[in-house]
Amino acid sequence: ALHSLSSVCLEGRSIQSVLTQLAKVLRKSLGLNQVGLLLFAENQNRLTEICIEDTIGNIHYKKFFQPTSDDIEQFVNFLSAEETMHVFDRQCYIEKYKFSKKKTIFLLLRCDDIHIGAVLLEYKDTVHLDKSKSMILAWVSDLLKTCLSLKRSELELNDYALNIKKVMKKRVDDYYEQVEALKKENAKLAQLTLMDPLTHLANRRGLDVVLNREFENAKRHHYPLTLLIIDIDFFKEYNDFYGHDAGDQCLKRLADVLKAAERRKGSLIARFGGDEFVILLMHQTEDEAEMLVQRIQENLLQTAMRHEASTIADHLTLSIGCASSVTEEEMHWESLLTRADQALYWAKQQGRNQVFFFPEEHPNNPPLKKPGSVVQWSLG
Ligand code: GH3
Ligand code: MG
Repeated sequence: ALHSLSSVCLEGRSIQSVLTQLAKVLRKSLGLNQVGLLLFAENQNRLTEICIEDTIGNIHYKKFFQPTSDDIEQFVNFLSAEETMHVFDRQCYIEKYKFSKKKTIFLLLRCDDIHIGAVLLEYKDTVHLDKSKSMILAWVSDLLKTCLSLKRSELELNDYALNIKKVMKKRVDDYYEQVEALKKENAKLAQLTLMDPLTHLANRRGLDVVLNREFENAKRHHYPLTLLIIDIDFFKEYNDFYGHDAGDQCLKRLADVLKAAERRKGSLIARFGGDEFVILLMHQTEDEAEMLVQRIQENLLQTAMRHEASTIADHLTLSIGCASSVTEEEMHWESLLTRADQALYWAKQQGRNQVFFFPEEHPNNPPLKKPGSVVQWSLG
């Protein structure tokens, strides 16, 4: 019986399974009618678990059965006041109470002066507690005590581990959340460093990034890129005449004119710096660029922006240089910029307010003025 009791206590996976098995072994080995095991909550006079194996061997188990703490105190006092019998000189000892029928023993389990639980043993006949039975009961109290503290520590450890897991998971989640937020913030900042704050177009850095990427793509897939550099004529004079703030407004309006004229997906409009803008067209050649220039001029006409300090017209005019690449293997995107800039230089040289194209077929020839590219209109 002692061996079975110890294995039950040590091998039980939970307090419930220990109590259930213990009730079975006790009932069988002591030849009892029924057996009940009660556990008190630590440091509180409160029942936490109760397990009874009844007369026909059915197990009744209940957790957190809660009479009021007063009830338990009265119950404990009542038992302690009765005849007490110490079974062996153990740290954990047993007190007993005989009910009137003398068939029942109530064993109050104490450990270091704390009540840890109780055992109810109902005998079939009058109780006769011989030495071996007393020994078993003493063992039961010892085992229950050890098993309880073990199981309770185990539960506490499990709870602790669960808590640590939760805390760690929260920390890891928080960490990833922060990383994501930082990534977004960085992406925003990176975007800002690529954008011109006045016109909200791409700035020079943004243009470089896109040119670099698109040039490689165009080379790989053999499609042409066309680049236009658009420069305001006599913008210095515009600033001097209308003031710097009006100059800023003029740059913003021109940015809107360009955006309205070129809406194709993939095209890039950038502020190159000062009063210079760039439009990069994917898959497009000179012919499409020419049509785009026309749309720009029409839109500009709609804005009717005056430029009284200009010596060539009474309105704002633009000079445009254009170059196309059929993306020769050895060509770098900077050459495309240089060619468009060369064409722009010619447009300025030839009197402004016109469009020049870099001669793709004969790169050593001077850029060509597009017939009809001098825009002549007057605000009157
Ligand atoms: P050109 O016809 O040869 O292009 O002459 P321009 O006066 O337009 O060219 P220039 O390069 O001599 O002057 C460009 C002016 O653009 C000078 C500068 O003060 C002005 N500018 C550059 N950036 C800004 C800006 O952000 N706002 C304003 N209002 N003016 C700017
Ligand atoms: Mg200019």
